[in-house]
Formats: sequence, structure tokens, C-alpha cells
Amino acid sequence: MDITKYIRTIPDYPKPGILFRDITTLWQDAGGLRTAIDQLVWPYAGVRIDKVAGIEARGFVLGGAIAHQLSVGFVPVRKKGKLPHDVIGEEYDLEYGTDTVEIHKDAILEGENILLVDDLIATGGTAEAAIKLIRRAGGTVIGAAFVIDLPDIGGRKRIEDLGVNVRTLCEFEGE
Ligand code: AMP
Repeated sequence: MDITKYIRTIPDYPKPGILFRDITTLWQDAGGLRTAIDQLVWPYAGVRIDKVAGIEARGFVLGGAIAHQLSVGFVPVRKKGKLPHDVIGEEYDLEYGTDTVEIHKDAILEGENILLVDDLIATGGTAEAAIKLIRRAGGTVIGAAFVIDLPDIGGRKRIEDLGVNVRTLCEFEGE
């Protein structure tokens, strides 16, 4: 199955020059969603995973389905100020300014194996911050799984350089 056919591209969203890769068209197709989850999960068969961490917000949908399939727990990685209890945070650079991702302090236990999930990897900045956060909490990131890779931007290499195995299902050229 060619996953790219299920992804809608919206030019100039959310700002001019961006080609937004819209994964909702994959999600709304029963076979599309099922296949994407299965393909993301199968390389981890037999690998010990204690929890899935999903990046806000599209990583929640994919990560929740993957956690269910693996019969493990789910940890939301959220933007600053959204989680209700005590948090740890990690700042990362944006094109202009910075942003912060947070997890609950007690979400990940020392020595747990964590699979990180999001819909798309571009610069890898968000995923890198999430990996640092998981490591600070005592977790080991055993993989990072994304449906879409934008290889021209180089995020995959950035994450692999952190020593994390990256799984993606399809690629789009450009930014
Ligand atoms: P980055 O930190 O640069 O790897 O950006 C990753 C995050 O931004 C992911 O959560 C994506 O959902 C979102 N994102 C970045 N670029 C795009 C794009 N061209 N289309 C859709 N989402 C994007």
C-alpha cells in the first residue's frame, strides 16, 4: 500500500511557502489507518517496549493506537502549560524563537523502554526535545516512529545521530 496516496497536501498552510502534509485523510480511511499502525509497529515485534510516548497532537492518535496494539501504556508529550500535574520540560529552537515540550514528572520510570511517535519528522527539533525529556526522566528511547519523513530537511539524521533508531513509512520531497 502506498501511504503517500492517502496524505493530502495543502500548499501555503499554515503560512506561505509551506506544503502542509495532512494526515487526516489517512486517518479517515479505515484500511489506511489500520495499515499505517500495523506498518509502524511490526519492526518492534519481540522488542521490549514499556510505554509509547506521543507528541501533541497528531502523535496522540497514532501513539494511542500503537500503545493499544502493543498492550502498553501511553505518555502524552505536550506543549508547555497543558499538563495538570508536576512536569519536566525541554526547550527547543523554532525558526523564530523557542518552544517547550513537557511530560508529567511521574510518567516515565527509571529504566523503562519508550517508543516515541509522531505523524511527521521535519527538522527533528520536536522529536529531539522529546527524546531529551524521556532520557532525563530515566527512560531509554528504543525507537522513534513517524508516518511521514521530509528527508530534504534532515530531521531523521538528527535523531539517528542521537543514537535513536528511526522508522518512517513514506517520504515527500521538499519542505
Ligand atoms: P519538526 O520539529 O521540525 O520535526 O516538526 C515536526 C512537527 O511539526 C510535527 O509534529 C509535525 O506534525 C509538524 N510539521 C512540520 N512540518 C510539517 C509539514 N510540512 N506538514 C505537516 N506537519 C508538519
